[in-house]
Formats: sequence, structure tokens, C-alpha cells
Amino acid sequence: MLSCKQVTRLASEKRDRSLSLRERLSFRMHLMMCAACSRFDAQMQFMRTAMSRFSRGETPDREDR
Ligand SMILES: [Zn+2]
Repeated sequence: MLSCKQVTRLASEKRDRSLSLRERLSFRMHLMMCAACSRFDAQMQFMRTAMSRFSRGETPDREDR
């Protein structure tokens, strides 16, 4: 069983490397039981989406055109 600390580390590492099946499974298991980490992961996902949009030159505040 992973600790919250390990889970938050994996949540940021999975941006840079692909996790092993074992890591992904224990990661998901933990998220199902831990609201704090599941919120953290959602936040990381959101940041990643926002960052990749930004790097493609899409600015979300220009949707009125
Ligand atoms: Zn946790």
C-alpha cells in the first residue's frame, strides 16, 4: 500500500515518465480511498492541461472572438 507521500510523488512523476502497471494500479487504488490525493491528482491534471494549452499558444481568456 502506498503512502500519501509516495502517491503525490507518483502524481508528479507520471508527467515525465510512464508508470509501471504495478505503480498505476496502486496509484489508482490509493486515489479511490484517499480524497486528498485524488484532489491533488485532479489538480495536477488540470495544471498539465492548462500548461499544454498555454504552450500551444491558446489563451483561454480570448474565447470571445
Ligand atoms: Zn493519500
